[in-house]
Amino acid sequence: MHSAQIQRQGIGMTSARTRHRLLARLRAHGIREVRVLQAIFDTPRHLFIDEALAHQAYEDIALPIGYGQTISQPFIVARMTEMLGAGEATTQRVLEIGTGCGYQTAVLAQLVDWVFTIERVGALQQAARARLQQLNYRNISYRNGDGFSGWASNQPFDAIIVTAAPETVPPGLCAQLARGGRLVIPVGADDQRLRVITRTPHGFDERQHDAVRFVPMVPGRR
Ligand code: SAH
Repeated sequence: MHSAQIQRQGIGMTSARTRHRLLARLRAHGIREVRVLQAIFDTPRHLFIDEALAHQAYEDIALPIGYGQTISQPFIVARMTEMLGAGEATTQRVLEIGTGCGYQTAVLAQLVDWVFTIERVGALQQAARARLQQLNYRNISYRNGDGFSGWASNQPFDAIIVTAAPETVPPGLCAQLARGGRLVIPVGADDQRLRVITRTPHGFDERQHDAVRFVPMVPGRR
């Protein structure tokens, strides 16, 4: 086996056994979609965080990634990916706001045709791009910008996922959804809930789901 392959598969606390334990936990918490579980299993989460934290990579917890940001908890990544319909054949082009370290991006890239991802912090965006390219994910477009305005030149999207929390739903994002498309977004300040907004022939259908804790969605870029 090549060393790169060993690194991707992991050893010890990052091994297949550890990843199976994570999947068992996600199943126990209600994640059902087989393709989503497989994508989580196949994504080397230990390569998205600092080496000093790698032994915790397959625990179901959020971890710090610098710049005051975090890598999301695997359960939340799985839950939002399911809500997005990313395991379904009609979900082909997805916009992601909040690339962070690129973990959710990698999970999505295994499930849909193309992922467009936007990150406001330039240094995070560059590190995520380098990492995802090195891991051989090829169906991703990257942008350092403000997710509040979406990515107009590539709309409409079959799905939009936001991984930072605004206090209210940005109307500009809803406008970039294809007919039947879904927006999955945490909304609120201290008291956040996941919301799923579906574009119908007549307007938008909105539903509230799980309580969550995301970093705030901040306007502008740096
Ligand atoms: N998706 C990541 C978690 C991202 S944390 C994962 O898989 O672990 C949230 C990210 O959203 C941070 O990197 C933050 O810088 C970014 N962010 C916050 N406001 C934003 C905005 N307006 N546009 C784009 N990215 C934003």
